[in-house]
Amino acid sequence: MNIRMHAAFPNCSVRCSLAVFATALALMPVPGSVAWAGEPPKLVLQITVDALRGDLPSRFSNVLGEGGFRYLMDDGIHYTNAHYQHANTETIVGHVSLATGAVPAAHGMVANVWFDRELDRLVYNIEDSGYHLLTAGADVDKKTEIDPTQKAAGVDGRSPNNILTSTLSDEMAIHFAGRSKIFAVSVKDRGAVSLAGHAGKAFWFSKATGEFVTSNYYYDHYPDWVNAWNARNPASSYAGSSWELLHPSSEYLFGDADYRDYETNLAGFGRVFPHAYGEADDKYFTTKLTVSPAGDELTLDFAKNLLDEEQLGQDDVPDYLAISFSSNDYVGHLFGASSLEIEDNLARLDRTLANLFAYVDEKVGLANTLIVLSADHGLPEAPGYLNALGIDKAHYFDTKSLDRTPAIAALKKQFGIGEELIESYFHPYIYLNRELIRAKGLDQAAVEAAVAAEIRQFRGVADAVSSSALRTASLPDTLLMRSILRNFHPKRSGDIYLVFEPDVFINDFDGLIVASTHGSPWGYDTFVPIMFAGAGLSAVKVNRPVTPYDIAATLAAFLNVKPPSGASDVLLVEVLGERMD
Ligand SMILES: [Zn+2]
Repeated sequence: MNIRMHAAFPNCSVRCSLAVFATALALMPVPGSVAWAGEPPKLVLQITVDALRGDLPSRFSNVLGEGGFRYLMDDGIHYTNAHYQHANTETIVGHVSLATGAVPAAHGMVANVWFDRELDRLVYNIEDSGYHLLTAGADVDKKTEIDPTQKAAGVDGRSPNNILTSTLSDEMAIHFAGRSKIFAVSVKDRGAVSLAGHAGKAFWFSKATGEFVTSNYYYDHYPDWVNAWNARNPASSYAGSSWELLHPSSEYLFGDADYRDYETNLAGFGRVFPHAYGEADDKYFTTKLTVSPAGDELTLDFAKNLLDEEQLGQDDVPDYLAISFSSNDYVGHLFGASSLEIEDNLARLDRTLANLFAYVDEKVGLANTLIVLSADHGLPEAPGYLNALGIDKAHYFDTKSLDRTPAIAALKKQFGIGEELIESYFHPYIYLNRELIRAKGLDQAAVEAAVAAEIRQFRGVADAVSSSALRTASLPDTLLMRSILRNFHPKRSGDIYLVFEPDVFINDFDGLIVASTHGSPWGYDTFVPIMFAGAGLSAVKVNRPVTPYDIAATLAAFLNVKPPSGASDVLLVEVLGERMD
């Protein structure tokens, strides 16, 4: 199979059992001996930029200033060839992989949404009926929510309880006897809950109230400073204003290509600059803040306040602050990876990062702070952009009609099924009507195999892999199969894993038509930057193939704490330097 994927994969084309590989996954060893050398940092600052494809900072370096990305790229350790190795490159999957250093088969967060067979409904990754939000009215407003995964949540409670392995932040809590202060902040709840782990505290932005909120998993009541920050209502300062270009349009790669008809025009936000936020009573006002640099600016403001009020990095016990900047992802969905909007958002994020680093330098000192920046997944191009360049094969795929296609209709006839055989599709899984299959006395594995075989023939489908086949390891040992197996969890994975060909996407989310969608095993979605800086690290660019799973174990080794329970055993030697044996 000729696919572009992570270079570290062995190019095995022979048909062989995956059982050995599955065993290797389960028995991942812990890192080798690491000698202690040097003072530990006072603060670990883990930054995630949602959907930051690995090439974007250098591609748009023309609009970057000083002290942000340039500080990381020029003064830090920049891994330029980092790829995820799991198939479903979605937000929770990547964030938890960063937090735990594990693949989804181990940490269990296989998708943003999966079907819970006990509850008999789709569930959102971090929903938890055992808890509630601390703020009344802060739950997802299903009438205005544009994030289709958030809409799947059946309850307002959020917790990390679905994360099955430990996070680096958990290991810090355990090692330092609870004396490490551990916090995570993001516009997205899943961007914060993932990295705070089971022992830390998470805050995220509620589009319903325009505030940063949390759940009673973390607190019984808000710290005073959070109430004070929310009472100040910083989001309201954007009312009546617009997202405007930071630089003259001539300085941008896409300066003369602002308008594209495939871009999403969200409730008057428009396809060209300036993008108006609307007034504070506009029902999409807070949503518009999140699909622009404003979301990251609010996150920065809240995180700086947190750093101060919680006095992070002020004693000898290392503290942990994770910040996940979400705007890049939303802007990518609405406008695509090659747009003036994504370019300006990066320019403004760069300014946000420079502001953050200057603040941390003043309060803690960059020499005392170990910074790591990466992304939860990459970012695909919009098919319309590719089509205009003559790449005709790029297109959108309609999954709504799956059950009604002639091939599936014929199969239903063959099995004597008059009702819906395909119960639902929620990326990346197809769910079959198991009750019906049982009632008809049919064999689940045989039906899965038959449906997968038909769907595999569809235009735009690269493969359809049944979970029964994954369980019995009767699959060819290809790069694609390995990435799907790394994403497989027996209790959470659906019945058939659907993989589209490169540059084929779903774009209709409950009626919201977007320009691009990530979540594939292809290079544009697996490719992310990894940058370390501060804490006395020396500048170096590394093009050796590495993975984002290596980050957690490397941070653990740097702190001389044990690695998270499912973490990769690969250490990034450039970061550890003389800390290595
Ligand atoms: Zn994401």
